[in-house]
Amino acid sequence: MMKNLAPETVAAQAGGAIDAETGGIVPPLHITTTFLRDFDNQYRKGYSYGRPDNATVRQVEAVLTELEGGAASVVMGSGMSAATAALLALERPAHVVAPSVMYWGLRKWLQEDAPGLGIEATFVDAADPAAIRAAVRPQTRLVWIETPANPLWTVTDVEEAGQIAHAARAVLAVDATVPTPVLMNPIALGADIVMHSATKYLNGHSDVMAGALVFRAKDAHFERAVRMRAMLGTILGPFEAALLLRGLRTLSVRVRHQSSSALTLARHFAQHPGVAAVLYPGLKTHPGHAIAARQMRGGFGGMLSVRVSGGEVAAIATAANVKLWKRATSLGGVESLIEHRASIEGPSSPCPPDLLRLSVGLEATADLIGDLEQALEIR
Ligand code: PLP
Repeated sequence: MMKNLAPETVAAQAGGAIDAETGGIVPPLHITTTFLRDFDNQYRKGYSYGRPDNATVRQVEAVLTELEGGAASVVMGSGMSAATAALLALERPAHVVAPSVMYWGLRKWLQEDAPGLGIEATFVDAADPAAIRAAVRPQTRLVWIETPANPLWTVTDVEEAGQIAHAARAVLAVDATVPTPVLMNPIALGADIVMHSATKYLNGHSDVMAGALVFRAKDAHFERAVRMRAMLGTILGPFEAALLLRGLRTLSVRVRHQSSSALTLARHFAQHPGVAAVLYPGLKTHPGHAIAARQMRGGFGGMLSVRVSGGEVAAIATAANVKLWKRATSLGGVESLIEHRASIEGPSSPCPPDLLRLSVGLEATADLIGDLEQALEIR
């Protein structure tokens, strides 16, 4: 493939992969779990067994590496297997700095499981660089951020977080599931590792669980993550990898549409009497707006939250009354989802009880507005 192509070109052509044998413009799906040895007992073609490696998974990795401007990627069976591999690959004892507002599942793992594995986390307000700086210690090996972060869409300055991490000889890892490489490239901003729940926008159709780590350099941390995947057996299945490769082809158009639709929704509901507040980095009233505008390009993402006037009961009733939005967890698919987030995150969550999280899909924006308005009026 040609060099320096725009991300939509790389994604649309799945990195330019074709089937060398037949000329098929869609690469074949490699489902074999084992490979023939050469006559002299070597594996010159580079593959020996399906747990450490798979050719279809490699194709996804090549596209993600290119989209993120990294050196190498590791694709796994879920976002959580990717995120935990990045953390488990750290030398021990390890201290990490993590945001108090972040994907709740990983926060729970850091709080409840990681300490027993020699990983201690300090949680900070990651919108405040001084708080990150104050939390790093001599044993800090990694600073984890997520931006914009679930479910308040808190924005962290990636460049500044990278400088703080590097001054402490730690690495910066960024959960960029929500912006996707279409809207933000953390490595260009100074990150060492980019993590994606590919279950969300990268696949985009709510039918694949997958995760990825993209590394700035093919370094020791990358090698340990590769080893972790082989040893724990967390590689993505080849069928899922083929679906993910197909989903990636339309990533740019989906994310751009979802992002512009989310901005329209955010502006509309910011004026609505049934809504006490709209949380969306694309609104000038959002505290992270200026930083998001600087480090993201072409939009602020397809995720927003609304705080419903009338509190928790009103919020749950609103979610109960939608007809078009699907009442479900997850995000990043073509169909719009609505969720009372506090119900899933539990009492340790920073999520206010009146908050509904919205994942904007590809439906007509006017239909989504109309449905949410009628649901806000009924309750
Ligand atoms: N990071 C973010 C921002 C998420 O929203 C999620 C899932 O909801 C994850 C990570 C975890 O990914 P997965 O569910 O694919 O394991």
